[in-house]
Amino acid sequence: LFAAIAGIGDYSSGVYLQSVTTLCLSSRAAYANPSPTLAMTAKANALKASGADVISFAAGEPDFATPEPICQAAHRAIDEGFTKYCPTAGIKELREAIAQKLHDQNGIPCSPDQVVVSCGAKHSLYNSAQMLISPGDEVLLIAPYWMTYYDQIQLAGGVPVVARAEAADHFIPNIDALKEKISPRTRAIFLNTPCNPTGAVYGRKTLEEIASLALRHDLWIVCDEIYEKLVYGQTHISIASLGPEVAERTVTVGGCSKSFAMTGWRIGYAAAPQPVAKAMSSFQDSVTSNPTSFAQKGALEAFKMPLDTVEKMRQEFETRRDLMRAEFLKVEGLDVPSPGGAFYFLVCVQPYLNDKVSSDHALAEVLLDEAGVATVPGTVFDAPGYLRVSYTASRDNIKRGVARIADVLAKQII
Ligand code: PMP
Ligand code: GLU
Repeated sequence: LFAAIAGIGDYSSGVYLQSVTTLCLSSRAAYANPSPTLAMTAKANALKASGADVISFAAGEPDFATPEPICQAAHRAIDEGFTKYCPTAGIKELREAIAQKLHDQNGIPCSPDQVVVSCGAKHSLYNSAQMLISPGDEVLLIAPYWMTYYDQIQLAGGVPVVARAEAADHFIPNIDALKEKISPRTRAIFLNTPCNPTGAVYGRKTLEEIASLALRHDLWIVCDEIYEKLVYGQTHISIASLGPEVAERTVTVGGCSKSFAMTGWRIGYAAAPQPVAKAMSSFQDSVTSNPTSFAQKGALEAFKMPLDTVEKMRQEFETRRDLMRAEFLKVEGLDVPSPGGAFYFLVCVQPYLNDKVSSDHALAEVLLDEAGVATVPGTVFDAPGYLRVSYTASRDNIKRGVARIADVLAKQII
């Protein structure tokens, strides 16, 4: 319980009473956890700003500038006075462009009224959880997972039920492990391909198996495809493209943050069966109204732009991934498979933990304090004994940062 000290004052007479109230926060407040990934990024940035030589492998955002044509479109929108309320679910042209893109690039049949544009994919996921999950519903998650799903499921009153994808399977979920977790109360499954933090990209067979499980047990599928454009030697497949009966129970979530280096613009979307999209839009009416009008004009430009700008960023990430892996492989005993997508390595550091530095949390702290390298402890993603290391840093910093990590790990095994 939270006891608030409330000030009740008669300032003019100089009398100022304080009373201890019994007001308490809602039960939901217990699930309002600060984002540990954002916190680590903020800590690294603050250290850098204070002059410390910190290399950040913590950030979950591209280090590239937002492409110029996107910025220009938003500038133009402001200059033209496009700065007022607009339709809650997003401007018509943007919903049309997203529906078209989902059709052309993802093979998802989709009409504009099935698209709801929100303040980032995180917001779209939140809307999905709020509209699909009732108190007590069980929701399947595949560990390691992006921690936000867990919190959002709980914020909707749901119960996250975790199935584990193993490193030995390159973090591709085993269908029998998923089946075991299904109960009569299971209502939905959350998927994330390409996956943060593992980089796993689910292939057609896996997606087909998950889809038939969802059909058999009458589950909603929420599929977060925010990293769809960042795949290396793999093909991204949208589960909603597997057939109309799958699309009818799937919410596909995507956005601009990762593909177009637009994290601060806060534009994401959900594409859902019409009744779900309608509910999400009405819900958004009560919560935020429209996402920022001129940011949507920027997003419209992003979805209409030729794909070669995105492709250049993808290629640079692939080069960095290969460079980082090559540097990691110089560290004796470190096992680093090559992730197929996103921009993270999930590195197993279990062999380097000891009595003094006994957890991934402790190791991440040592790395930051002693080596000036920011990473995210795997425990945050339900992957204890691992560190998430992102390659959204320059090639030079990747070399320097991994060398520093190697020095710390070498000391750990002595
Ligand atoms: N999904 C995943 C898997 C993510 O890593 C992130 C991180 N930003 C998001 C969704 C949210 O993206 P957005 O910036 O669009 O809210
Ligand atoms: N998704 C990013 C990450 O995993 C940003 C953090 C967040 O949105 O919580 O680092």
